[in-house]
Amino acid sequence: MSRTLYPGGKKPNKQRPKTLEIHGGETLAEREIRPGVARVTAFPLRRLRRAQDIFAGKKDGFVYTRINNPTVKKFEERLMAMEGAEAALATSSGMSAIMLLALALGHGGHIVSSNRLYGGVFHLFREYLPKLGIHVTFVDNPHSVEAWQAAIRPGTTRFLYLEAPSNPLIDVFDIRMIAAVAYSYGIPLVVDSTLATPVLLKPLSLGADIVVHSASKYMGNGEVIGGCILGKKKVISDLRNGWFRDMGGCLSPDNAVILMSHLESLSARMIEHSTNAFRIAEYLSAHPKVRKVHHPAFGEDSRRNKELMPKGFGGLMAFDIVGGLDEARMVIEALKMPWLAANIGEARSLVIHPATTTHGQMNTEELAAAGMSESTIRYSVGREDPADLIEDLEQALELI
Ligand code: PLP
Repeated sequence: MSRTLYPGGKKPNKQRPKTLEIHGGETLAEREIRPGVARVTAFPLRRLRRAQDIFAGKKDGFVYTRINNPTVKKFEERLMAMEGAEAALATSSGMSAIMLLALALGHGGHIVSSNRLYGGVFHLFREYLPKLGIHVTFVDNPHSVEAWQAAIRPGTTRFLYLEAPSNPLIDVFDIRMIAAVAYSYGIPLVVDSTLATPVLLKPLSLGADIVVHSASKYMGNGEVIGGCILGKKKVISDLRNGWFRDMGGCLSPDNAVILMSHLESLSARMIEHSTNAFRIAEYLSAHPKVRKVHHPAFGEDSRRNKELMPKGFGGLMAFDIVGGLDEARMVIEALKMPWLAANIGEARSLVIHPATTTHGQMNTEELAAAGMSESTIRYSVGREDPADLIEDLEQALELI
């Protein structure tokens, strides 16, 4: 048997995070300096008996890239090592990973979800899942154990869903506490940890059962769309051989290689994003044209937030300006450095107006319940010199 740096959950990882993002999942016998791309649709099954065993799930083997692929497997193993997970399943996007979980785990039942969500997920949960008979109850105060408990329908609720931290307000949650609620009802907790990445948060070590990532943010570094689900072997293999196989939302091997390349710099980038976002939030929190800054290092929960995410909070933040939609438009259009774009986690800073774009599916009440309004501007702080970003914000805020 080959020795591995990450032997699929059989032995604990000895390597540190910075090493795992470069070597995680690697076989020491491997001599491949850069991962090759297995750009192939189907794999030779060789003998009928072997084919039969693989199809019956009795034997492992590559069949067809929609189901598994050696290059995609490398990406999955690297993320497993980084996240401390037994198994992983790469998907074509974050949304395809979340949809897969919703259908595979939630069918015929009910989901309880935090209301602090990326708008696309909120819309999926509110509009489309009910059309398929899956009902979702949103918890308006996801910091409260009682609120989660009150929403659970014993026997019908299939899982709890939490985005931690949340997009766009970066709510930091006590995952241990919510995991304990899920455990007490015998249902899994699914955590979308996209905005933290394994560098800043490891939900599985805090009691979450399944972690889901959009790899299109920090991991993809502005180049690719992708996603991943991580958890116990049984959960992941049931997904792969079940709903995933028949739904078809697989990651391409080319994108797996690009992702692996960007993962190698993830720790350094996350620290830089976190530092820069803090600098911007600090500047904005003292600005007279800014009513509120949404960044976990500021406000009454800052001490608790730092305990929950001691390595940093990443590059996303938001702020409410004095005024409404018109003022938000003036500021956004006057900014020269960040592009107006619907992404997070790129080297370039990006800005967006959630109420009319990413969270445009939420009505005024739903936005307010989730802590947002038309005066909220989301800012994905990049890795430019923060002094330049501040100068740019200064000139834009002068206009209102
Ligand atoms: N989860 C979060 C927290 C997100 O911000 C997003 C997208 O913005 C998604 C999931 C969806 O991921 P994708 O765009 O890769 O489908």
